[in-house]
Amino acid sequence: MQLANFKKVFFEELSDFYPDTEVQSFYFMLTQQFLGKSRLELALEPECEILEEQRNQFQDALDRLKIHEPIQHILERSEFFGLTFKVSKEVLIPRPETEELVSWILEDFSSEEKLIRILDIGSGSGCIPISLAKNLSSAEVHSWDVSAEALKIAEFNAKFNNLGVNFQLKDILETKDLEQEFDVIVSNPPYVRNLEKKEMHANVLNHEPALALYVDDKDPLIFHRKISELAAKNLKVGGSLYFEINQYLGAETLEIVRRFGFEAGLKKDIFGNDRMLRAIKKNEGAL
Ligand code: GLN
Repeated sequence: MQLANFKKVFFEELSDFYPDTEVQSFYFMLTQQFLGKSRLELALEPECEILEEQRNQFQDALDRLKIHEPIQHILERSEFFGLTFKVSKEVLIPRPETEELVSWILEDFSSEEKLIRILDIGSGSGCIPISLAKNLSSAEVHSWDVSAEALKIAEFNAKFNNLGVNFQLKDILETKDLEQEFDVIVSNPPYVRNLEKKEMHANVLNHEPALALYVDDKDPLIFHRKISELAAKNLKVGGSLYFEINQYLGAETLEIVRRFGFEAGLKKDIFGNDRMLRAIKKNEGAL
């Protein structure tokens, strides 16, 4: 079969589901993946033929896109901070906002020459700890997650990118003490309230892990509060705590970290939403 014929079907069938530019970008990601050919190579080969088996792969991808499966699940990978990460339905697909959180930490620490001990809480795909390990040569990076399935993916990603991260299976809500002193603690914990689900798209709602995303409407800052409490105990004086936060709860999240004695401020993401928080531990005995 000629690829051009399949291309027609692909565009026609997806036009009800996605804007044209998005369909185009899916198409070229898939041709790269299944045929190993770039957009430019395809332009030079208008008669390109595909085998039955490749046609089946494309058809399968088309069917999955129609049920709003994220393209990253179909490709089984995603890019974050210039690195490639394996992803699956067990982990959140890395978001551009989280790249901004990593950038903030790098701005603050990239000229640091002495060892910095970092703890990331909620590994997911491992995108935060792995990109920090990649870009901070003086860092010793630890990362914890409650999901054994997520940790398998995160460990794979650290190996794949040739970086050392100390991963551990831990439930942060059940943790009483971090048992080590850290210079930096960072977390992108679950923070989406059920009442916000109506703003979300089917690709996230139906295909991404609830465990990584949602919190109870009645106690949406449960993770930020617990992590702040632990950080107040186990962060070194002068150490920093970084959070990704719910854009609607910036003031409330600030209030929590201040209550634990931190000096803190918010930062907006590229979309202009309050998305990050940095808190600095000024002195001991913040509790
Ligand atoms: N920003 C993510 C989303 O909108 C949520 C990430 C999280 O809950 N930590 O899907």
